[in-house]
Amino acid sequence: MDFGQLKPGYVAVLGLPLDENSSFLRGPAQAPAKIREVLHSGSSEYVSEDGPYLRDHPRWRDLGDLSLGTGEAAMNTITEAADAVLRRGAKLLSLGGDHSVTFPVLRGFAKHHPGLTLLHLDAHPDLYHDFEGNFYSHASPFARILEEGLVTRLVQVGIRTMNPHQREQARRFGVEVIEMKDWHGQLPELSGPLYISLDLDSLDPAFAPGVSHHEPGGFSVREVLQILAQVKAPVVGADIVELNPARDVVGVTAAVAAKFYKELLAKMLS
Ligand code: MN
Ligand code: MN
Repeated sequence: MDFGQLKPGYVAVLGLPLDENSSFLRGPAQAPAKIREVLHSGSSEYVSEDGPYLRDHPRWRDLGDLSLGTGEAAMNTITEAADAVLRRGAKLLSLGGDHSVTFPVLRGFAKHHPGLTLLHLDAHPDLYHDFEGNFYSHASPFARILEEGLVTRLVQVGIRTMNPHQREQARRFGVEVIEMKDWHGQLPELSGPLYISLDLDSLDPAFAPGVSHHEPGGFSVREVLQILAQVKAPVVGADIVELNPARDVVGVTAAVAAKFYKELLAKMLS
């Protein structure tokens, strides 16, 4: 992987084809390729709604997919890659993979961005201490991130599956949870540097059926775009996770992911 081409102000895109930590279904390892396929298919424009023109943008670098082993080795490879990107002063947009990738990515961010704020969009709080014995489970990344102090603030939106254990975890870690039932369209004030973790199941399955865990009652595509538009803090990193192409319907969820790719990229280039 050619990290040497990166310079300050660049945005590196990295595919993280890992789904072994999914508790219910495999499939998200196929997501980075599907997102790129839609992005470059000619069916869409290389534009964001409110940002720079993206086609051939000189500071946009897609580095391709990381080659990942399994278990702790895969986690370490992800952390080292994130560190390699940030060491060059670039920003990182990661394409999952299941949500377990966010923990090793943020491990790579921690020493470069102390005091990081994390905005997390998800149907699920992903705060399990472990899930069926797996500490790397996609149901647990935010427990690991908070235990290691990798961020100073975690704000969650879209949540609609809060159970007693995770409510206790949220209290213990001081997570600011805005549950979907309480959502009125306004993010709290966020200061930078900011990292955005976007689980596609934060959307209603009507808009994004290609995810492993269908949880009705979520955001529309437009609501997520409005959330991103509200973010004024500098975004130093982001991920788009949990696209499961095996469950997608005529590629519509991959197209939604590609749309968010462009919006996040534009925000990070601005
Ligand atoms: Mn998640
Ligand atoms: Mn989720």
